[in-house]
Amino acid sequence: MAARKPLIAGNWKMFGRATDLGEIAALAERVGAAGDKVEALICPPSAYVQSAAWQARGKAVAIGAQDCSAVAEDGARTGEVSAAMLADAGARYVIVGHSERRTLQGETDDLVRQKAEAVLAAGITPIVCVGETRAERDAGRVAKVIGAQVRNSVPTAGAGAVIAYEPVWCIGGDRTPTLAEIGEVHALIRSVLNERFGAEANGMRILYGGSVGPKNAGEIFTVDGVDGALVGRASLKAADFSAIILAHPAAS
Ligand code: PEP
Repeated sequence: MAARKPLIAGNWKMFGRATDLGEIAALAERVGAAGDKVEALICPPSAYVQSAAWQARGKAVAIGAQDCSAVAEDGARTGEVSAAMLADAGARYVIVGHSERRTLQGETDDLVRQKAEAVLAAGITPIVCVGETRAERDAGRVAKVIGAQVRNSVPTAGAGAVIAYEPVWCIGGDRTPTLAEIGEVHALIRSVLNERFGAEANGMRILYGGSVGPKNAGEIFTVDGVDGALVGRASLKAADFSAIILAHPAAS
């Protein structure tokens, strides 16, 4: 089986302005030749996807988006942005089902799956986020919650998808699960993918996300089954994000 190329994705959330797009060139410069071995991805707000893709042209940094419409076809849907439009603007990935959207916008597994289907229909790759709350972990429900999210949010034709395991209680704070806990959930996700997609699951990458930074990235990347990271705050500045990318064993 060919090794999965690590993917380290930055989610800029609703931060940044056009002047911050200079971080993309700075990132490419800092990452240098490691960019061939570890895939670096920046997902800016949708307003900046096209300019970001322009800044990233010819560089070892891919550009993605943070969300899209669940509707694949063009139509009268004021304010919506389709996956096809994002692909046209230069996005190669779209994050779907981030916990902030599940919580703040009430997005369900069903809606997340429709969004992932729209991304696949546009010929690009969904990054499907799953993760338990602290209360669900404390109640011993991690396997049940994550298993259901992977079964119901990843489309049947989703063997090309990337999965991001992001424990909700670790996003935007300073807590992470233990390395053993991260390994357990990644193994669980891998077994659900194997069950659903058979041999095709071997190529599917599973990222860890939630308070990853330059200090803890190296140890998280040693966990069996972790194929990279989804990074929020620490992806905004090239200095921090490049340190995370360069902490991956494949980068050296
Ligand atoms: C995220 O937004 O997906 C995330 C993991 O955020 P942070 O790295 O800031 O915890």
